[in-house]
Amino acid sequence: MRKRVLVKFSGEALAGADGYGIDTQILDYIGNEIKELVDNNIEVGIVIGGGNIVRGVTAAADGIIKRTSADYMGMIATVINGVAMQEALEHKGLSARLQTAIKMEQIAEPYIVRRATRHLQKGRVVIFSAGTGNPYFTTDTAATLRATEIDACMLIKATKVDGVYNKDPMKYSDAVKLKELTYDQALEDHIKVMDDTAIALAKDNKLPIVVTNMNEKGNLLKIINGDYSKCSIVK
Ligand code: UDP
Repeated sequence: MRKRVLVKFSGEALAGADGYGIDTQILDYIGNEIKELVDNNIEVGIVIGGGNIVRGVTAAADGIIKRTSADYMGMIATVINGVAMQEALEHKGLSARLQTAIKMEQIAEPYIVRRATRHLQKGRVVIFSAGTGNPYFTTDTAATLRATEIDACMLIKATKVDGVYNKDPMKYSDAVKLKELTYDQALEDHIKVMDDTAIALAKDNKLPIVVTNMNEKGNLLKIINGDYSKCSIVK
């Protein structure tokens, strides 16, 4: 049986040096990494964040925009990223389908798990956008939920760092990488691998979360093939 994985990219990951919008060169790079997986017979689902465009908490910070509306704006942002990702994957010759948890019939298929599974079985990459479709959640939680629903063997969180550290490695030179930790450790020590809702859901469903650096070429395939040298795993 083919392996099925879900890869989560933050919206920020798509932004270029100025931290905003979509850098097509980054999309192109991601397209190559995903193609490598598909070429190796792996079924791939993708969840993308929207932080490069709108993040609900930030947009609602001064009280002018209500949090619920700001969160809907954030979810729409993930659809924008999804449209771009679908194009980038097809540019590489892959077959991709964008699904959305908030209906937008002209743009994307509605999220239907059975349909998504069918696409995956046919070798299509499925991009799950609009998060969970509900405000007050994150795309990390959406990724955990979708990974569980499609029965993925792992959720890979593709970030800018090569794993989970006891403190921010960008700020502290003595930060120590934690190669393996339990869900409870991640929750109790407030190690922000993902938000608590996402970790609790992963724990309930025994879904391993792998955190790795998306900028290390070939890393996704290595991890799926069992080489955990350049990542952290929460299980
Ligand atoms: N969001 C939401 N419900 C969800 C997923 C996302 O309301 O199920 C909104 C929320 O406002 C969030 C924004 O969409 O800030 C973008 O997602 P996120 O911040 O998780 O993106 P990332 O940090 O991965 O770029």
